Amino acid sequence: MQQAKVFDFIVVGSGIAGLNSALTLSSFGKVLIITKGKSTDSSTFLAQGGIAADSHQQDTVAAGYNHNNIKAVKQLVKSGQAAIEKLSHLGVQFDKQKDGNLVSSYEAAHSYPRIVHATDFTGREIEKVLIANVVNNKNITIWEDTPAIELITNNNQCDGIKVLMNNIPYTLFSRAVVLATGGVGQLYKLTTNPLIATGDGIAMAYKAGAKIKDMEFIQFHPTALLYDTSPLLLLSEALRGEGALLFNSTYKRFMQKIHPLAELAPRDVVSRAIFQEMKKGNVYLDIRFKTKNFILKRFPNISHELKKRGFDLIMQPIPITPAAHFLCGGIKTDLYGRTTIKNLFAYGECAATGVHGANRLASNSLLEGMVFSEQIQYCVKDLPPKSNVVKSIPRDTATIIPTLNVDTLDKYVIQSNEIKTQIRELMWQYVGIVRTTNGLTTAQKKLRKLQKEIKILQNTRTSFFEVEAMVTVALLITKAAQKREKSLGTHYVNE
Ligand SMILES: Cc1cc2nc3c(=O)[nH]c(=O)nc-3n(C[C@H](O)[C@H](O)[C@H](O)COP(=O)(O)OP(=O)(O)OC[C@H]3O[C@@H](n4cnc5c(N)ncnc54)[C@H](O)[C@@H]3O)c2cc1C
Repeated sequence: MQQAKVFDFIVVGSGIAGLNSALTLSSFGKVLIITKGKSTDSSTFLAQGGIAADSHQQDTVAAGYNHNNIKAVKQLVKSGQAAIEKLSHLGVQFDKQKDGNLVSSYEAAHSYPRIVHATDFTGREIEKVLIANVVNNKNITIWEDTPAIELITNNNQCDGIKVLMNNIPYTLFSRAVVLATGGVGQLYKLTTNPLIATGDGIAMAYKAGAKIKDMEFIQFHPTALLYDTSPLLLLSEALRGEGALLFNSTYKRFMQKIHPLAELAPRDVVSRAIFQEMKKGNVYLDIRFKTKNFILKRFPNISHELKKRGFDLIMQPIPITPAAHFLCGGIKTDLYGRTTIKNLFAYGECAATGVHGANRLASNSLLEGMVFSEQIQYCVKDLPPKSNVVKSIPRDTATIIPTLNVDTLDKYVIQSNEIKTQIRELMWQYVGIVRTTNGLTTAQKKLRKLQKEIKILQNTRTSFFEVEAMVTVALLITKAAQKREKSLGTHYVNE
């Protein structure tokens, strides 16, 4: 028999978008945050460069190839300063100049320095501070190691969510559910995204009937460390913002011939250029012309992480590769984060507000996660009271939990991990930086075949629902890419 519980609000995910929606909602009732792994397992924790915080409407739209929702961009830009102030007020220590003003830096496609940061630990600093505020908030409870697996919906209204705790399914009911499950980078062989980034929230919303949009626009970060682990270490754009240059295998620069902004051209342009150069040999990022002191003070985290992997930012050019980094599309929302399902909200990377258009401007995603999750405060008045939720809980919430003996389970875990690897390989090969019509058709066929294989694996274990989410989202990306015949932004079709 499943167990049912009732909350005011349920937030799925503990990155910037989930934590800030929980803090915002805590003024209106009790909030439960559920998160798949540990609280800090998130892209937010890994963010290095910073957060854009100044009038950058034009640059956002230029980077997004005019595919952006202008109203959403205006909302983002208008609220940027307030978001930084809120983070500072909560305790985030952004780097400051001697006069107390925040230090600002350049990143790709920004027309002037406007990225505020906490050295190159910006995301870690934000995540730690938000978690500390959540933990100290009496109205918020956080459950770790609790993956959400399915939305409970009725007549296009979301009533709650199914989760796994110790592999046992529980049904939780609430006035509203917020999806803040992050991105999809783990669908690709090479990615900067953490292991949690398997697109679960998008798959759940899609299966419940929510509209999904702009899935073809996957941003590939130009400079991840060419190394053999997943996720790959990101070498932040801030390095190029501080003047680091790209060199090909014959140690010649190549970006000036390709774009007037050279190394700071939009990410899709730089990624494709590196991708082409890599056909001839390794490509390198080089910041050795800066002093040791500068490098260690500005990039302590990156220098340290490189050292751990046997590379020296001060002494050598660093081999790099583009890697899947950010999803511009996702669950379609309005400016308040409302999805097309009643009482279901989506914020952060899993949401498609339309802010990023066909390509994200660097440092806009932490900001998006902050700004739009604030908007939920204006929606609480329209939600059903908790008493109605309690009354509407169906008496019969029993489900049958499939039981398999341990041997069979092990076999299925191995099988689902193999399928994950296949998805990552084929997405990288056919639905990656450069796509072709034939390649997309091949990807679709292979994914459909894998989807059939997964059906026989159905089980209540994290790896099973994850692989199912991955294939669902991989198909959404592939189908969206097939529909858009002409190249636009991060979606590049080579005929
Ligand atoms: C290496 C790296 C560097 C970056 N640098 C920058 C930068 O400098 N500036 C910038 O603006 N952006 C940057 N980004 C992008 C930015 O960090 C992300 O877009 C942003 O943090 C996403 O926040 P989020 O809250 O939407 O998702 P996340 O921070 O990824 O959080 C998602 C949460 O959802 C949880 N979750 C997922 N599935 C489930 C499930 N089924 N059940 C329960 N919980 C679930 C996860 O465990 C996690 O807690 C970077 C990204 C990476 C990977």
